Amino acid sequence: MTSTDLQAPQLTIGGEIVGSPDSLVVVNPATAEVFVEVPAATADQLDAAVAAANAAAPAWRARPLRERQDIVRRYAAVIRENIDELARLLTLEQGKPLARARGEIGSGLAYVEAFCDMDLPVEVLRDDERERIELRRVPVGVVAAITAWNYPQLLSLWKIGPALVAGNPVIVKPSPYTPVSTLRAGELAQEVLPPGVLQVLAGGDDLGAAITRHPGIHKISFTGSLRAGKAIMASAADTVKRLTLELGGNDAGIVLDDADPATIAADLYAGGMSNCGQVCAGLKRLYVPASRAAEYAEALSAVAAKVVVGNGLDDGVDMGPVQNAVQLARVQGLLAEAEAAGAEVFFRGDAPDGPGYWHPVTLVRGVREGTGLVDSEQFGPVLPLLTYDDVDEAVARANASPFALGASVWASDIERATQVAQRLEAGSVWVNQHPALSPEVPFGGLKQSGIGVESSRYGLLAYTDISVLRVKR
Ligand code: NAD
Repeated sequence: MTSTDLQAPQLTIGGEIVGSPDSLVVVNPATAEVFVEVPAATADQLDAAVAAANAAAPAWRARPLRERQDIVRRYAAVIRENIDELARLLTLEQGKPLARARGEIGSGLAYVEAFCDMDLPVEVLRDDERERIELRRVPVGVVAAITAWNYPQLLSLWKIGPALVAGNPVIVKPSPYTPVSTLRAGELAQEVLPPGVLQVLAGGDDLGAAITRHPGIHKISFTGSLRAGKAIMASAADTVKRLTLELGGNDAGIVLDDADPATIAADLYAGGMSNCGQVCAGLKRLYVPASRAAEYAEALSAVAAKVVVGNGLDDGVDMGPVQNAVQLARVQGLLAEAEAAGAEVFFRGDAPDGPGYWHPVTLVRGVREGTGLVDSEQFGPVLPLLTYDDVDEAVARANASPFALGASVWASDIERATQVAQRLEAGSVWVNQHPALSPEVPFGGLKQSGIGVESSRYGLLAYTDISVLRVKR
């Protein structure tokens, strides 16, 4: 698919597929060339979408839960029927290999479908001769889903599924870097969803900010940076919007001294480098015992040496480019700063020459806390290998971060690893894996990694408010 045969997907407002006088250019990160221009929603179009969502809300919430779930299942089926087209758009805009793009959409649909099997029962708190008291879960109202560029499909599906099932219309605003597949999915959704129930508006950060201020929106479900998360909290305060914030992470992994490098190296590598290192809950600081550091450097290098970096549309590619030029410059800057501070690059892989936001797989040692590469979220294919002398020290260093999204412990003795894992501060703590997510398991961050969770029954409840009904007898 080239820019000449790609029809630009449009906005969806009130059941209509519409253009806009404003536009956004979208760059393919594998070529650094604009591959499509899509409409960017104006302020008036945001107002129109919010009005359409509020108009659709009463009928949508009045449908029985099972009926909403049947419709949402049909929506998931339409997305699945078009997965080839959507995956291709996702690779073009995001850079990830086509098989990973398909996997991302398939995984997102599994989450949507899981919400279609959940219940929202009325809880009876008292039922006696004096009074009947019921706890009811009611929809929160119009939801805005604002997403990041690393997993545009997965992140939007994580929000759309529970929001719709719980009885709320949704307006999705994808990242300006990756709006294309989300817009197209919005067009497809109009085949099965009533007008105004699911709308997609592309736009820049300014559109996101306008959404968070809008009085006709009642909840913001946001996945993105800590910086934007803070701005959203402040802006949402004015109209007391409900918030789910999935923010950054700087996940630590601690390898205990009894682990076997050959057994775990491939999983450690994938934990850090999946999606070109652009995973919120990716392994971003790897702590290994000082006495075994050389073995881990060797084992990780052996895995990294097999990785093929290239255009995600080509066969046999394991890893694509960094998603955008700003992020590439950030990763390069963090690496340069670490090297200037004495870090040693012990593995540097191959990456294509020429245009595109390429960064080789890079493994670094001889770096400590106090360096940006360790203290902040690098969000790219550069992994620091840190050493420790005793486990208490490693736990303290792992926990000394304002982020607390995921963390992991790796060992042969699972009992001992589990003991150490319980001392790590994170929304998800894994043993011998990193990350591991599934539809029935809540996922979210502690500390500044976020507020609330997605997935699971808890993720569904996040799109409801509690309303109590007390009937005096
Ligand atoms: P970003 O915060 O720059 O942008 C995310 C979205 O927010 C975009 O749609 C953007 O237009 C919008 N936005 C930006 N400023 C806004 C504002 N003031 N008000 C409202 N909306 C605004 O993040 P990014 O660079 O696209 O994504 C990378 C970040 O996302 C990383 O920090 C990563 O860890 C995080 N992330 C977190 C999770 C999670 O589940 N915790 C998952 C994926 C990514």
